[in-house]
Amino acid sequence: MRVRFAPSPTGPLHIGGVRTALYNFLLARQKGGQFILRIEDTDQSRYVPGAEAYIIDSLSWCGIEFDEGPHVGGPHAPYRQSERKELYADYAHLLVERGAAYYAFDTEQELEEMRSRFEAAGMVAPQYNAVTRSYMKNSLTLPPDEVRSRLRSEPYVVRFLMPRGREVRFFDEIRGWVSFHTRELDDKVLLKSDGMPTYHLANVVDDHLMGITHVIRGEEWLSSTPLHVLLYEAFGWEMPKFAHLPLLLRPDGGGKLSKRDGDRLGFPVFPLRWQDPHTGEVSLGYRERGFLPEGVINYLALLGWHPGGEQEVFTLEELVARFSLDRVSKAGARFDYEKARWINQQHLRRLPVERLLPLVRQLWEERALPSISDDKLSQLIDLARERATLLPEILEAVRFFYMRPSLPLPEALEAKLNPILIEKLPDFLAEIRQLSVWESAALEGWLKEWAKSQGMGVGKLLPTIRLVSTGQEAGPSLYAIWAVLGKEEVERRLEAFISVYGVSRRV
Ligand code: GLU
Repeated sequence: MRVRFAPSPTGPLHIGGVRTALYNFLLARQKGGQFILRIEDTDQSRYVPGAEAYIIDSLSWCGIEFDEGPHVGGPHAPYRQSERKELYADYAHLLVERGAAYYAFDTEQELEEMRSRFEAAGMVAPQYNAVTRSYMKNSLTLPPDEVRSRLRSEPYVVRFLMPRGREVRFFDEIRGWVSFHTRELDDKVLLKSDGMPTYHLANVVDDHLMGITHVIRGEEWLSSTPLHVLLYEAFGWEMPKFAHLPLLLRPDGGGKLSKRDGDRLGFPVFPLRWQDPHTGEVSLGYRERGFLPEGVINYLALLGWHPGGEQEVFTLEELVARFSLDRVSKAGARFDYEKARWINQQHLRRLPVERLLPLVRQLWEERALPSISDDKLSQLIDLARERATLLPEILEAVRFFYMRPSLPLPEALEAKLNPILIEKLPDFLAEIRQLSVWESAALEGWLKEWAKSQGMGVGKLLPTIRLVSTGQEAGPSLYAIWAVLGKEEVERRLEAFISVYGVSRRV
């Protein structure tokens, strides 16, 4: 199996493109095949600087790596179509020789005139096709001598000669048999007047030369496939298998998911931050939002693929083992941001702390929080991850660690303090000073004992002790918080509290 991802570098990679790359990658890994990156940059007018690097970086962040491509090389290099441009013209001329294509000399103005003429005659959206071509200036209508001299002196294009009255049928691995009638298709340009190929020619020639066995791409290319099938036929090449992936729809199912929908509904549609080189506009991606790549690819895998069974949380290895095209649906897949968050949360809970450590450390440093050892930070991550969906929420959940309670507490929190315990805090602190073991289970045992000795239930104490220790009403287990804060810091916070709420201040 040899599959490819063939983006045009016309802007940032949309999350739908990441899904297309992912499905190709999963199959290649599962079958021990190769996954190829081919940059389809023949339309120089739409070229956006930085887009190719962005595509590679985004996929690499997701854990999607290529076996061949412009950045890694390979036996079919070059992998950028702009660097292969010389080879396409020969294939276009070959088709003309075989009678499957022809030269056309019409100017923009003549094309325009043709359209208005046929529109006036009642034709809807006239195209260059079996009906209109005979009225135009091309190698089918002009005498051979004139064709030869025009070819030497004038710009020309090569157009595909769409056969008349044919049903083009092909098998799609997701949709089953698909058929188009050639009357719905026009004589597409294959080679432009500047000698550059169009998408159709370059795509088919390269898929053939690169030995691609499966073309797996978005549904928007389905209508181009009959032309591709006819091109394979005309060249006499073996056809790859085709699979067209369902569209990604807006959360309300109303249409294709666009960047505008993401902006409007508050979720990213790009994997990484992107700055538009022309307008300077910055869009944040899933990474900046605090998603894990593990979460993003798991969520994207489920957008259109149904694993069957209950399991929804998958590692990349599990996806490689389980993925199959026959469980990809034809129907468009609705985007569901809440589901994406949920899946991310599951990975946040399950991944080894060592995996999260560098990511959280980076956020920690970006916010210039006080320096912290790996060991302490790992403990904090462990404490907080149950309560977090996205990475930055880990920092929120451990605020108590880097921010001492600000005293006095706001009135609403003061009202929750237990006055009996406040009176006893100096004794409580004295006992704490005596403790020699400082670890979560031992602290829990000790606190329960102490509560009993004071004739109080521990449940009556905890909210106050939490406020004293963290300044917050809720959070991870208090004993774990104490353990990670350390004895000295807890003593310090108790002292500070007593000095504000001790003798002088009434609660
Ligand atoms: N260059 C096309 C794109 O931008 C490739 C479509 C295909 O995979 O054939 O998506």
